[in-house]
Amino acid sequence: MMKMGPLVAQVFLMKVVGTKLFKLKQIMNEAVKNNKYKMLDIMHHFTSGLKSLYSQMTYEGTDFVRANCGGAGYSSWSLFTEHYSLYSPVPVYEGDNTVMAQQTLSYVQKKFKNI
Ligand SMILES: Cc1cc2nc3c(=O)[nH]c(=O)nc-3n(C[C@H](O)[C@H](O)[C@H](O)COP(=O)(O)OP(=O)(O)OC[C@H]3O[C@@H](n4cnc5c(N)ncnc54)[C@H](O)[C@@H]3O)c2cc1C
Repeated sequence: MMKMGPLVAQVFLMKVVGTKLFKLKQIMNEAVKNNKYKMLDIMHHFTSGLKSLYSQMTYEGTDFVRANCGGAGYSSWSLFTEHYSLYSPVPVYEGDNTVMAQQTLSYVQKKFKNI
């Protein structure tokens, strides 16, 4: 539990935020249908930041779980090898995570300056 507990907590957090995000996306889609585009900006930056955060957590979490299965985690029977190689480009494609995080952070800074 000491090892896996934080990862399980992260998964719950991702699920809660993901559900909220899905609802926000539905609201945004409805607004766009009515030619209202105000939410696009914040949703773009919000999801960019989450892509960076979540894909990094998943990438590192997968490796962590695999290593904690001992040698068995490195056997192709575990399917970790396949999953890890398929997932490994996610922190880079659709925008490198460093760049995506910077983009979101500069948006947050800009918003704070306006307060
Ligand atoms: C498997 C795979 C499939 C892909 N499929 C497609 C596809 O179908 N269509 C498509 O158009 N593209 C595709 N790509 C390209 C992908 O979208 C880009 O590789 C990705 O957006 C990263 O851009 P880049 O390669 O220019 O790297 P960069 O963004 O230039 O990053 C290179 C390095 O520089 C660092 N870096 C960059 N800017 C900064 C900064 N300001 N501060 C600090 N560090 C910085 C990054 O952290 C990274 O380490 C694919 C890539 C991969 C790996």
